[in-house]
Amino acid sequence: MTLQIDIHELARTGRTLEGTLEVAETPRLASLLAREEGQVRWQARGERRERPDGDHDDLLHLALSSELQMQCVRCLADAPVSLRVATSFRLVDTEEQAEREDLEDSRFDVLVGSPRFDLGELIEDEAIMALPSLPRHEDCALPDAADPVQAPVDPARRDSTPVGSVSNGQGAGEPRSGAGGRGESGQAESGERIRPFADLAERMKRRH
Ligand SMILES: [Zn+2]
Repeated sequence: MTLQIDIHELARTGRTLEGTLEVAETPRLASLLAREEGQVRWQARGERRERPDGDHDDLLHLALSSELQMQCVRCLADAPVSLRVATSFRLVDTEEQAEREDLEDSRFDVLVGSPRFDLGELIEDEAIMALPSLPRHEDCALPDAADPVQAPVDPARRDSTPVGSVSNGQGAGEPRSGAGGRGESGQAESGERIRPFADLAERMKRRH
């Protein structure tokens, strides 16, 4: 949705604007969500900051908050996502200036200002960038085995257990010829060194 403001005027006056954007009015954001429901609450504060050289920087401080529904990558059901964004931009006049100065400015992102600046587009962009790339329930009901994201990790973890058990049974002094050189430090001692770590890794994965 379009929400045009004179952004340099906002900075000059130091005013704060705030409002609510309906998800249904933000098609790019809505396309990434499980439901076209909810709002993005936003607050935009302008600031003109004097510089030692006598010039000034115009800044925009943007804050967003929203409760949205995305699809959990594990169980594919709706998963609640809380967005909290607080970011500050320094305004410049041209795209060329933005490209050049964005690399130099470590404090602020650089934004091309305009008397008809589309704040709605910026809010939507920032909300999209704040979305988790792999949304999932914090406490997903689906067990690890069915997890499509974690699946590539599982074979390696299963491999380490038999290798550890064999070296445990045959003694630690034997060289490992068929192990493929993987996980040497863990296998040098005994299988018991490996299994607690695997369990810990499994527990940590479940928490995410
Ligand atoms: Zn889930």
